[in-house]
Amino acid sequence: MDLKDHIRGIPDFPKPGILFYDISTLLRHASAWRTAMARLAETIAPHKPDVLAGIESRGFLVAAPLALELGLGFVMLRKPRKLPGLTIGLNYALEYGTDRIEMQADAVQKGQRVVVLDDLLATGGTMSAGISLLRQAGAVVPCAACLIELTFLKGRDRLDVPFEALVAYD
Ligand code: 5GP
Repeated sequence: MDLKDHIRGIPDFPKPGILFYDISTLLRHASAWRTAMARLAETIAPHKPDVLAGIESRGFLVAAPLALELGLGFVMLRKPRKLPGLTIGLNYALEYGTDRIEMQADAVQKGQRVVVLDDLLATGGTMSAGISLLRQAGAVVPCAACLIELTFLKGRDRLDVPFEALVAYD
């Protein structure tokens, strides 16, 4: 199955000039979603994760089913002020301005192998922040993975871990 058949590009979203890759159509198609999860499971299993982390919000749709598939726990990396209890966070730069990502301080144990997942890698800023935050929490990050990579933005060059994606657009 070609997963690209189930991903659509929507022009001028969220701003004029941006082509947004929409995974809603993939999620709506049970066997395409299942295929994507099975392929990602195969890709990340050799990295021997103890836990999977997903980046809000579409990363949750990738990481949570994958964690169930692999028999692992799932940790949320969220936008600011969403998580209860003691949290740690990291600010990171966007093209214009900054953003912040947070997790619960006790979400991972020191030395646990945590693979980070999101739906799409663009500039790599979000994924890079997720990796740094997990390390701040004491995790070891053996790899990161997404459904989609926008290769022309060279986001993987910003990551210091192996990166896997199922589908690439250039
Ligand atoms: P980056 O930080 O790599 O520049 O941007 C990646 C983040 O923005 C991801 O969390 C991803 O969900 C979101 N994102 C950016 N562009 C797109 C897109 O075209 N489609 C989807 N589904 N997400 C995008």
